[in-house]
Parts: sequence; C-alpha cells; structure tokens
Amino acid sequence: MGSIWWIRRDLRLRDNLTLQKALETPPVLPVFILDPLLLKNAPERRLNFLFQNLHSLNKDLQSRGSNLVVRTGKPAEILESLLKETSADQILAEEDFTPYARMRSVLAGSFLPLKLVQGQLGTHPLESLKSSGKPYRVFGPFKKNWLAHIQSFESIPAPALVPTLQDIDSDGIPMGGADDLFPAGEEAAYKRLEIFLRKKVEFYHLTRDRMDLDGSSNLSPYFRFGVIGLRSAIFRSLEILKDENGRKNLLGIDAWLNDLIWREYHIHIMYHFPESRTQNFRSVYDGLLWINDQSDFQAWKVGRTGYPVVDAAMRQLNTIGWIPRQSRNIAASFLVKGLLIDWRWGEKWFRDRLLDGDLAVNVGNWQRAAGTGPDAAPFDRILNPTRQSKKYDPTGNYIRKWVPELAELDKDVIHGPWQKRAKAAGYPKPIIDHKFATERAVAAYQAAKDLIKL
Ligand SMILES: Cc1cc2nc3c(=O)[nH]c(=O)nc-3n(C[C@H](O)[C@H](O)[C@H](O)COP(=O)(O)OP(=O)(O)OC[C@H]3O[C@@H](n4cnc5c(N)ncnc54)[C@H](O)[C@@H]3O)c2cc1C
Repeated sequence: MGSIWWIRRDLRLRDNLTLQKALETPPVLPVFILDPLLLKNAPERRLNFLFQNLHSLNKDLQSRGSNLVVRTGKPAEILESLLKETSADQILAEEDFTPYARMRSVLAGSFLPLKLVQGQLGTHPLESLKSSGKPYRVFGPFKKNWLAHIQSFESIPAPALVPTLQDIDSDGIPMGGADDLFPAGEEAAYKRLEIFLRKKVEFYHLTRDRMDLDGSSNLSPYFRFGVIGLRSAIFRSLEILKDENGRKNLLGIDAWLNDLIWREYHIHIMYHFPESRTQNFRSVYDGLLWINDQSDFQAWKVGRTGYPVVDAAMRQLNTIGWIPRQSRNIAASFLVKGLLIDWRWGEKWFRDRLLDGDLAVNVGNWQRAAGTGPDAAPFDRILNPTRQSKKYDPTGNYIRKWVPELAELDKDVIHGPWQKRAKAAGYPKPIIDHKFATERAVAAYQAAKDLIKL
C-alpha cells in the first residue's frame, strides 16, 4: 500500500493536486530524481535555485513528519526500484508538458503504475482545442477559450501531515548558493505574491514594462519550478478583487492574468508543435538569410553593442540571470532584426542564463520577436532601441545601474550618447546604424517571403 509522489515541477505543498491525490493512499513517499540528462543542460544558477528549493521543500516536509527522498539517475529505473523498496502501489506525478518531460512520463508509464495529475496549467492542452479539434495558434481566440474553460480554482492548503515511510535511502541534496534576489521556498514565493497583489498590482498595467521601476511580480522563477502554483496565484488575485477597495485593482489584475495566459499559451503551442523548439513556426521564413556575424553576436552577449538599453539588458542577464520583459523584448528584437542573427542563437543564450529559463516560454517569445511565431508581429515591426529606451526607462536609471560607464550622463543623453557626442569613456559606439539595420531586415524578410513564391 502507499504512493510515491514523483515531484518534478511542483516543488510546493499547497495548491498541489498531485500530493492531495497521493495522500488518499498513504503512506506517501516524496521523491525528487536528479536526472543527469537534465542536470547536464541546466546552467549553474538555475541549478542552484533548484537545489535551494529542494532544501526548502525538505524542511517543509520534515515539519509535517515526512522527508524528501532524492535519488540520482534514470527516472524510470529509480522509480522501479523505489516501488520495490516501499511496496507502494502507485506513482503520482504532476503532468509536465515539455517534450522531454512527456517522453520521461511515457517511458515510465509504459511499465510502471504511473498516474499523471493535471495541476500545472489552467487547462490541459488536449482540452483546449478549437471546435474543429485543432489547437489554437493565435493568442486572442486561445485566451477567450481558456477563460471559458478553466475549472474553478479552489484553495488547497498545505497538508498538516504527510505520513511517510521512514528509512528509505536518500542521496544528499547538493548545496547550491543562496540567491538574495530570489530567495528559495514556497513561503518566500507566496509572500512575494502577496506583496505584489497588495502593493503593486494596482499599477501593473501601467508599470510592468518600465525597466527603471520594479513594476512586475518577479515571480517567473517560482512559476518555472512550480514553487508557486498557477491556480493558487489566480485564485488569490481574484480574491483580492473581491476585497473592500478591491475594484481599484481590476485593470492591473486583468493585465496580470493576461500575461499568465501568455505563459500557458506558449506551453500549449510547444505541446502541439514540439518541432517549433528548433524550427520556424512559420516556414515562410525558412529561407531567411541570417547574417550570423560572430563579432556582432559577441558584442550582444557581453553588452557592448553601443546601444545602452540593449547593453544594460544583457549585462543584467549575465549578472543576475533575470531581466524585465521589456528588456528581453528589446534585446531579442535587436539581435534578430537589428543584427540578423538567428533567433535560435539568442534563445539558447537566454535559456542558458535565465533563472526562469523555460523551453516553451523562451522559444515562444523568441519566435514572436523574430516574427516566425504563430502569433508574431508583422516582420516589418522593428523595435527602435533608442525610442524604446526613452519610453520604458525615461529616468535613465535602468541604464545607469547596469552600464556604469554611462552613470554620469543626463537622461536626455543617456539613451543615445553618440547622438549628442557625449563623453562616455570606455563605452563603444553603436555597432550598427538603426536605420540601416531596419532597411536591411525588411529586405531580408521580404526576400525570404518572395523565395517561396518562386
Ligand atoms: C525574448 C523573451 C524570452 C523570454 N523567456 C522567458 C523564459 O524563458 N521564461 C519565462 O518564464 N518567461 C520568459 N519570458 C516572458 C517574460 O519576459 C517573463 O516571464 C517576465 O518578464 C518575468 O517577470 P515577472 O515574473 O515579473 O512577470 P510578470 O510581469 O509579473 O508576469 C507574471 C507571470 O506571467 C508570465 N509571463 C509574463 N509575460 C510573459 C510572456 N511574454 N510570455 C510568457 N509568460 C509570460 C510569467 O510566468 C510571469 O512570471 C520571455 C520574454 C521574452 C520577450
């Protein structure tokens, strides 16, 4: 008798449908498998965050009479061995939707009593389809359907007790350094959610894109690992709306939910079109001639393009592993359209550094920036980095923080120091002229489209 709770992207005790189900057949053995294939590809910073969160989850479990069993190796083999060691009769895991996670589940489920529980998303990708049975490709109709179909979310508290078989061997959890900006653990994540909903969400629709303000939730790394659950985040935001004075948050919460749905949209797209992780979603651009200049790529990577806002974004990414959304948009647009460098190069660079790096969400956003995605802006919409900088960092404080060479410059000069011949010792001149880059990109994209007409 008993259940193995195979933890993957649900590093939390509350809002956990899988744990809730497992507790119906106790004792429950919480297991996390350090899969060498995944570890090999994950950047150190993200691994540290994972390890810190495992420690925190273990503490939370210990205070409930349980403990986390960690094993290293191939998931199916480890689960098979744990079934024998515990005499459990089922393995429960939250369904995970990345191509690799699906493969792991199929493999383990082919000979083990594995049951998948959908608790990660608002709707399962197979339940959110057009009336024709085909998946949505465009965000607007996807969102409309999603809103119509989400099940009502209830609040599931963390269990008071998790009865667990003792004396099951566990490998140690690697240490992993603490991250002051993103402290580990469910407690920290839900506290952050609460502060966001109490203090920031009211203005979210106005400030989320401001790079010089802290206007967004900063919850993406926690969503990435399921340290916070999507369903409880939505539940809590809807509760806030019902509070006295809650209506003042309506526009902010509406915008925030919209962004959470974008996340889900990208996960659905990757589920239905897994080839899009490396292939253009719109094959019309397959013939696009990327320039892929190595020295341009190098300048972009290290934040020395001569465009202050791009450089601030890249230096922040390299330093803390997280950047605001508008910084991501500007840096991505600059790489693919400004420098004509293949979006796959940028996608990999980002994913290898982001704490929240997630295949589906990252690829989806990169394809969107490149104009190759299912719901991308027209190819001739090219972000002007200087204009974007003035609009979304009007004080210049974002640039000052990350590009110290420009710290003394006034806000009228800092967005384009070369335009005013400002002195900025050690800071490079722009590696490309924006007007030239725009014309070149439009010509390249148009040529790719013309190619398929031949
Ligand atoms: C080129 C590019 C690459 C990106 N790569 C990733 C990635 O690997 N992982 C990742 O989690 N996000 C990615 N994003 C989306 C977005 O930038 C981050 O989720 C967001 O900036 C995180 O900050 P936050 O938690 O304060 O978000 P908030 O503004 O508070 O939004 C709340 C949550 O909504 C989700 N969200 C917000 N915007 C988006 C979006 N455009 N697409 C999908 N989900 C969104 C995130 O889960 C986020 O935590 C990328 C965006 C771009 C333009």
